[in-house]
Amino acid sequence: MKVDYIIVGCGLAGISFCEKLKANNKSFVVFEDSSQQSSIVAGGLYNPVTLKRFTPVWKSEEQLKTALPVYNQLEKDFGVDLDYKVPVRRRFTSLEEQNNWFEASDKVGLKPFINTTLIDNVNPNVDAQFKLGEVLSTGRLDTKLLVQNYKSDLLSKGCLISQSFNHNSLVCKDNQVLYNDIEAKHIVFAEGFGIKQNPFFKALPLGGTKGQLLTIHAPELKLDYVLKSSVFVIPLGNDTYRVGSTYEQKDKTNTITTEARDMLLDKLKTFVKCDFKVLTQVAGVRPTVKDRKPLVGRHKDFKNMYLFNGLGSRGVMIAPYVANQLYNFIENNVAIDTEIDCSRFY
Ligand SMILES: Cc1cc2nc3c(=O)[nH]c(=O)nc-3n(C[C@H](O)[C@H](O)[C@H](O)COP(=O)(O)OP(=O)(O)OC[C@H]3O[C@@H](n4cnc5c(N)ncnc54)[C@H](O)[C@@H]3O)c2cc1C
Repeated sequence: MKVDYIIVGCGLAGISFCEKLKANNKSFVVFEDSSQQSSIVAGGLYNPVTLKRFTPVWKSEEQLKTALPVYNQLEKDFGVDLDYKVPVRRRFTSLEEQNNWFEASDKVGLKPFINTTLIDNVNPNVDAQFKLGEVLSTGRLDTKLLVQNYKSDLLSKGCLISQSFNHNSLVCKDNQVLYNDIEAKHIVFAEGFGIKQNPFFKALPLGGTKGQLLTIHAPELKLDYVLKSSVFVIPLGNDTYRVGSTYEQKDKTNTITTEARDMLLDKLKTFVKCDFKVLTQVAGVRPTVKDRKPLVGRHKDFKNMYLFNGLGSRGVMIAPYVANQLYNFIENNVAIDTEIDCSRFY
């Protein structure tokens, strides 16, 4: 088989890059072994403001402009709903936080995204005596449905190989890479935390941060927005909500734990006052980097080998932007933003 690209990984990174290839009529094949599940378990939120410190997300305007049309096109291609335009509201815990919110709304990069009218809480099952601040241009992407549909589509077109990519079998030549019976011009590794098994890139400082989320059924809660307090509460419809998530540095497995469940429930109960039942719990490892920026670019020795990783906790917004950067670098020789180029660590 001869293709333009081999892609390893079918999470948000791999999918975004494949979309770029499709748009440019490049042929490709994708390896996927289901060893990682960050994109499958993700809360799916896109939100241009960091709600801890009220600071702008790096290049948020550009990221949103790039990402949303990609997801909206995929909705049309698959005939499913993926992008839910749901508001995100930050619960304030003091007057000081309210003031910080107003101050932030004047900052460059935040003005278009912060609603300066504070919102009174009228929900008897939510404790929010210091009101709520609303972020604009937010939403939720159904990442699980996206990945499922994407894989089925690739499979039906003969472009998905549901196997672990074995790095030891890769042969890199001057103008091509060879893998078993596949000849390709380029290979892109989009393996998320699976990078730790990749001998070509595992030395890069991708730490990985485990996250766990619960899905609850809370018929009396009646929230029609995403509520951000010590945890996020994300409405999914039918009185179900996703609650999360944890940030764990030691354990790097996809195993759910009772400690995480208890911690999430303790936090939730500080501001949600009605009864609820836990339906499910999931875990995954975010591909996080110390400087909180993606890791993307060319391998230091092999010129046809590339990395697309480090999407951290904001893969939904940033993946299509990074895909553009990598594609233009490979095909059009346009430099990658220095902040995200993996060569910053060489
Ligand atoms: C609990 C949790 C909540 C999150 N919430 C949000 C959120 O609300 N909003 C947001 O934007 N982001 C969120 N994220 C982060 C987001 O999920 C990630 O940024 C994003 O999914 C990373 O995508 P990826 O494609 O790089 O990695 P992954 O999703 O990990 O994809 C990598 C793929 O490569 C495959 N793979 C790896 N090695 C191999 C190999 N050798 N052979 C074949 N296949 C291989 C894996 O099986 C996997 O499918 C969350 C993450 C977690 C864990």
